[in-house]
Amino acid sequence: MKAARLHEFGKPLQWDDVPMPELRTGSDVIVRMAAAGLCHTDLSVMDGTLPDIRGNFPKLPFILGHENAGYVHAVGDSVTALKVGDPVLVYGAWGCGTCAFCRRGEEQRCSKSPLTPGISPEYQGGFAEFMYVPSSRYLLKVEGNLEDLAPLTDAGLTSYRAAKRVRSHLSPGSFSLVIGAGGLGLYALQYLRLFGPTTVIAADVADNKLSLAESFGASITLNSRKDNPVERIASATGGRGVRSILDFVGTNETAALSMKVLSADGIYVDVGLGGGTLNVPLIDLIHSESQITGSMWGTYEELVEVYELLESGKVKSKVQKFKLSDINSAITQMRHGEVLGRAVLTS
Ligand SMILES: [Zn+2]
Ligand SMILES: [Zn+2]
Repeated sequence: MKAARLHEFGKPLQWDDVPMPELRTGSDVIVRMAAAGLCHTDLSVMDGTLPDIRGNFPKLPFILGHENAGYVHAVGDSVTALKVGDPVLVYGAWGCGTCAFCRRGEEQRCSKSPLTPGISPEYQGGFAEFMYVPSSRYLLKVEGNLEDLAPLTDAGLTSYRAAKRVRSHLSPGSFSLVIGAGGLGLYALQYLRLFGPTTVIAADVADNKLSLAESFGASITLNSRKDNPVERIASATGGRGVRSILDFVGTNETAALSMKVLSADGIYVDVGLGGGTLNVPLIDLIHSESQITGSMWGTYEELVEVYELLESGKVKSKVQKFKLSDINSAITQMRHGEVLGRAVLTS
């Protein structure tokens, strides 16, 4: 089969002929790929700056891609819930299945560290014609357009769990800030509008992404390179600040901005892997009783929920399609901030 493989960190992927993945145990499934989302995490893995959650880097050459959708191509003897040809989403946090987190369904927080196809060295990802999945329990049978559905497994799911964390802060008259109007941010804007009567502010550094943010539910937009975001937010909120912040960037700059505009009783949730550090006077937390937290991917159950939101038309995906064989041009456009919504690679 064909696959886009990383041969050297910091270099473009190569379009290779590689052996087909094979069934190894009775619970395995081989998926024929239809669509795979391209994530900022992929860029960091390609650059060699981001290992998996245990600190392990992939062994090269390696197939990336952790946001996957396709059709069941082959199943092991013990797989009964799926049959060849079924359209499926691939839930990508593969936990041990036996620790306390896994037993309560939070495999993405597995205490033995979840393995992720396309990031963890043990499992090749979905930037290929076929993909190995070690258990049918990681697959969600779906109906609909797989190119719109593939991003739900990470962009739509991660933003959903993060938005759920701020749900109790979306009271009437409140303001919410979404930092980063990219693949995840556009989903988050929609979830916030669904979850509560809050006024949503979107911040980004690209005007075309901010225009898109308006059509996905932002009432106020600000360009943090051109506008003075602290002043704009103070004037928009009558000096009160925002009660919830979803930070999809996660740099020193976005964290510092967040601490300046977060209101009392507020909540700040970081999702972005920008590598920032937060320096907060603890006395301020005593006075404000605000919360600072993070949010990690999502559960299989939450994937079912976001799929239902998309299928019922309450949420939509914004995707920009590329042929898988053109993945390097998708990567270049993403690095230049030129992709609107999620870049999705089609087979
Ligand atoms: Zn990702
Ligand atoms: Zn576990």
